[in-house]
Amino acid sequence: MSKIILTGDRPTGKLHIGHYVGSLKRRVELQNSGEFDKIYIMIADAQALTDNADNPEKVRDNIIEVALDYMSAGLDPSKSTLLIQSTIPELTELTFYYANLVTTARLERNPTIKSELQMRGFGSSIPVGFYTYPISQAADITAFKATTVPTGEDQMPMVEQTQEIVQRFNFIYGETLVMPHILLPTNSACLRLPGTDGKAKMSKSLGNCIYLSDEPDDIKKKVMSMFTDPDHLKIEDPGKIEGNTVFTYLDAFCTDEHFGRYLPDYNNLDELKDHYKRGGLGDVKVKKFLNNVIQEELEPIRNRRHELEKDIPYIYDVLKKGSEAAREVAAQTLSEVKASMKINYFDDPELIKAGQAKYNN
Ligand code: ATP
Ligand code: MG
Repeated sequence: MSKIILTGDRPTGKLHIGHYVGSLKRRVELQNSGEFDKIYIMIADAQALTDNADNPEKVRDNIIEVALDYMSAGLDPSKSTLLIQSTIPELTELTFYYANLVTTARLERNPTIKSELQMRGFGSSIPVGFYTYPISQAADITAFKATTVPTGEDQMPMVEQTQEIVQRFNFIYGETLVMPHILLPTNSACLRLPGTDGKAKMSKSLGNCIYLSDEPDDIKKKVMSMFTDPDHLKIEDPGKIEGNTVFTYLDAFCTDEHFGRYLPDYNNLDELKDHYKRGGLGDVKVKKFLNNVIQEELEPIRNRRHELEKDIPYIYDVLKKGSEAAREVAAQTLSEVKASMKINYFDDPELIKAGQAKYNN
């Protein structure tokens, strides 16, 4: 069976280092591993509109930002298909049919939706589209027959919902859809990178992000004002590592080699953590080290972005070609789905023959 990846991002802002460690970096590695037959990377504009219906400009403007972030991080249009969700109406049609296989009680139980609803403060005025976006995500994943969905931890309930839809669809209508699996980051700090303010998740919608496109000065400012251990007031005080965002970011980004380059008093992160816990290590020193580590990771990405920014029409052309190619694949899946569901009336000679036979005697 082919190995196929589908994953993507909502165009609600530029991509940040949470996206990078949670999914984007992995996608680039998987793309370059040559192990996958097809890789689809989707800019989920229709999904972004489910909670931004009154702000279409935001979604429109961020399509190009996300595409630039993709390509500057190393996604290569000759190896991965980059596409825009709304250009593929087949996805909407699949969503409509899958909606019949999901109960409202099941949607209510989705923990990511629950926390996102709270974060967005919808109260009781929840847009139906937002409430049901896990179903549309199942359409996205299955339309491309994805076997593998590399994402951060927050997407686990979405992939589980997709698996249930696949199982139920195949049970009722016969084996048609491919069962996908989630591929989570192996480094636990990357499952859900916290915000610079220490909040549980770095998120475009919360404004607590270090963006892939941030200039060096912005990165430094953000790192130096990051949340640490609020009880670590004096250098000599013992410090806490748990819940200390600076150390979580180091867990996500730093390697032993970074110590040789920027902080040779220590051999590795464990030694640095031990010193912090004992007391006698100030936040500023740790933050300066983190700043060096992040700057090193983001510099080549930012430089590639500045190059790509010189030819915006080319980026739109990549998206257009990718969307056209992806649409053909989604259309093929939709026709298989409709055949399984017995709503392919005009393509089914058996139906027409049987219809005639009924009136021939
Ligand atoms: P929004 O606030 O609009 O939902 P977002 O920042 O949550 O934006 P998404 O576009 O919803 O970003 O998520 C895109 C991908 O990035 C998903 O695979 C998600 O799991 C991953 N991701 C997002 N934020 C983080 C994070 N803080 N840590 C790890 N992965 C993340
Ligand atoms: Mg999100």
